[in-house]
Amino acid sequence: MDVSFLLNEYAEHRDEYFRAVAPPIIQTSNFAFKKVDDLRKSFEDEYSTWLYSRGLNPTVEILRKKLAALDEAEDCLVFNSGAAAIFAAVLANVKSGDHIVSVTGVYTWARKMFEEILPRFNVTHTYIDGTSIENFEKAIQPNTVIVYLESPNSWNYALQDLKAVATLARSKGIITICDNSYCTPIYQKPVALGIDLSLQSATKYISGHSDTVAGVLSGSKKMIEKIFNSEYMNIGSGIQPFNAWLLIRGLRTLTARLEKITRTTNAVIEFLENHPRVEEVIFPLHPSFPQYSLAKQQMNGACGLLTFVIKCNNVETIETFCESLQHILMAVSWGGYESLVIPRCAGMKRAEFNASEKEHRMLRLYVGLEEAAYLQADLHQAFEKINHLP
Ligand SMILES: *Cc1c(COP(=O)(O)O)cnc(C)c1O
Repeated sequence: MDVSFLLNEYAEHRDEYFRAVAPPIIQTSNFAFKKVDDLRKSFEDEYSTWLYSRGLNPTVEILRKKLAALDEAEDCLVFNSGAAAIFAAVLANVKSGDHIVSVTGVYTWARKMFEEILPRFNVTHTYIDGTSIENFEKAIQPNTVIVYLESPNSWNYALQDLKAVATLARSKGIITICDNSYCTPIYQKPVALGIDLSLQSATKYISGHSDTVAGVLSGSKKMIEKIFNSEYMNIGSGIQPFNAWLLIRGLRTLTARLEKITRTTNAVIEFLENHPRVEEVIFPLHPSFPQYSLAKQQMNGACGLLTFVIKCNNVETIETFCESLQHILMAVSWGGYESLVIPRCAGMKRAEFNASEKEHRMLRLYVGLEEAAYLQADLHQAFEKINHLP
């Protein structure tokens, strides 16, 4: 389906609501029945009726249909956060005694689930470097049930060959789950590449305005229906109608925002790689990126998130740089209208900083909707402030 049709028309029923261009927010918790038999049928199959908004809701339905179609998946569920989507996807597919193979450095709350929650239920995991398929082959055990991926990773942009991993896992009856937050379905479609479940934090580019937290989980109708009837209903973390409406609004401008951000990011990268205080710029669609050819093969684009390494001998230099930025905000998350920076050293004790470790000198920059020259000027003046610092 044409992406313009998906974002502007698909799954909308304007004849049912006064031909209003923007869909209504059906802000209701429950739905009334006229016949006992209809209520009975709804109890038996909540997945195909309006009963209660912890389950299905008409505003959320518009969003679900659009997001599933964008992912080229049969169906999807929208959660109140990306973390809830991750939790439901994994929980739905493990039992005591099972084993998970996950790539290293996945999102913090995926790691917390693997390391702190699942061991309480006798579910173990192995982290691997996902850049080579042999590492998956070696790590898979007879009790492995899930291969968990995040491609690209959102700090160093390490990729996995999604098609190859999906083929390997499928041959052994193992479920594949991929965190696709970095690319969005506009730039990468894991399900179309054979991945069973694709998820993303919709907080990022789908919302696009830094005002909503949400997550999407897409896959086959069978799998999504199974998750709806257990984890989705039990965790009770489905998206609320108003937040779903905000995401539908975000979708209207998704491609326009990504295009602009992609252009600006390329200009900012050019500025950074020519700056004497920058040792390296890490970005999956840069020709210097070690997995550049794989990135070009499985991604249609990359947008605002990049990492650069500052040349310095101590942590104060990085702190001064970040605190000198006048317009680029220091905050977590990304995908909104505003540019952001977050230094790796904020995630460690000050005394642990070791300038000989490249990772410690990394800064993650998110390029938002501002003009390139405006951002370059802000970066330039912050670099001037560290001119004299070692
Ligand atoms: C933000 C993020 C998440 C979590 O999403 P929330 O909406 O914050 O719960 C998961 N994965 C990646 C890669 C993220 O950047």
